Amino acid sequence: MSRSARLLFPETIYTSVFHHLFSTRRENAGVLLCGWHTEGETVTLVVKEFRAARHGVDYTTSPKGYGRLEPLFIDEALRAAKSQGLAYLAIHNHFAGDSVSFSNVDLASHEYGYPTLLHLNRPLPVGAAVFGTNSIEVDVWMPDGRRLQLETARVLGHGIRHLWASPAGRPPFAYDEKVDRQLLFLRNRGQGLLTKARIGIVGLGGLGSQLTEPLARLGISTFVLLDPDRIDNSNYSRVHGSAPGDLPAEGCKGAHKVDIAKRLILSINPQADVEALAVDVSKGGTYRSLLTCDYVFLAADSAVARLTCNAVAHQYYVPMLQVGTKVLFDDDQPPVVFGAVRKITPGRGCLWCNGLIDRKELADVGKSEEQLRSEQYGVKASSPSVVTFNAEVAGRALNQFLLQYASEGVNEHDLGDYQMLNLLTGSRDLVEARSAADCPFCQAASRLGAANSVAVPESA
Ligand SMILES: [Zn+2]
Ligand SMILES: [Zn+2]
Repeated sequence: MSRSARLLFPETIYTSVFHHLFSTRRENAGVLLCGWHTEGETVTLVVKEFRAARHGVDYTTSPKGYGRLEPLFIDEALRAAKSQGLAYLAIHNHFAGDSVSFSNVDLASHEYGYPTLLHLNRPLPVGAAVFGTNSIEVDVWMPDGRRLQLETARVLGHGIRHLWASPAGRPPFAYDEKVDRQLLFLRNRGQGLLTKARIGIVGLGGLGSQLTEPLARLGISTFVLLDPDRIDNSNYSRVHGSAPGDLPAEGCKGAHKVDIAKRLILSINPQADVEALAVDVSKGGTYRSLLTCDYVFLAADSAVARLTCNAVAHQYYVPMLQVGTKVLFDDDQPPVVFGAVRKITPGRGCLWCNGLIDRKELADVGKSEEQLRSEQYGVKASSPSVVTFNAEVAGRALNQFLLQYASEGVNEHDLGDYQMLNLLTGSRDLVEARSAADCPFCQAASRLGAANSVAVPESA
């Protein structure tokens, strides 16, 4: 068995599971149906649906006094799993706290029953999870014969809660004087989480490039960077880390923005693991590099990049933060400068529901400039952009990440879903994300938690 299974919950589902399991003083049970995907050794299970077993009806006690799910309940759940391409996980609770494990009776029943279940649910995984009040262990049986235990479980809501089978699963942190002062705030627990985190940044332009240095200095050492763009004279003033030698010269194109960001990160931490991908996140399945990220910053403006990332966040439960600045400047009016920092949290209202993916721009993808002109849409004019505005929004975004991912005892609800900043007056509005009942991305009956069983929208 290897510790390479990750189990991800939207907060709403985890809350109902917890309530069902622990609201009485007896053992309770149910089934989780999970989207799933495999990247390298790691298998990620994203909980799409919870089926509670009714005590005494679906979950009964054997003559020897052991709890068991009734065959009819198992059969219905298995059929639902198989028809949707989902993994099947039977769950129950033990009255344990920070450490939980299967009993010998639990394991014997898995060995007796799961070869048959695996056969019935072929080619999908089956298995079990046991819950303590602050811990989870799994026993996942893969179609390829592997058997996996829990690496980590996450509950994704306003904050991100990390769970393990026992405190030994928590990422360790070996003291390093370089982060001594921030340890006073983050503690070893928070610093360990940062040190182990794999962070994605989509868009390394004016805003995204400002995120790299502080993240590297915080102690993040694994990055995935995506941006097809190159540096040129018109963006040089805003791309953090760029140098004159990166600019285009005769017969030579400018450097890729991702390579500039990688160089900057490695100059701070030569041991960092940086995947610099000069590609468009919405083309050719490149979004898959984000699937094992623990957190993603979405700093690309295009509607199609937002569409793809919004789908990834909700299908695969990758928590994201969308960031942007907008300068409204009219000759007759004083300028207004807005900044936005928006959480994209699985199961909460998404960018699509909230009108943040420009449908006209999506419809225009693939059209030539001549075609756009002939349709009198006009070609998108350059909008004003200033490095200092980007810096302020980047700072807010980084603090949001720190509080959400690696801090304990902070009330994440104080940050809301969306922070809307007026950068000239310094005022801030907190906005709750709206959620449309018929949204194809963030509703239970939609792509939510579907993982590989539904295609991610990309541009042609
Ligand atoms: Zn048990
Ligand atoms: Zn939505």
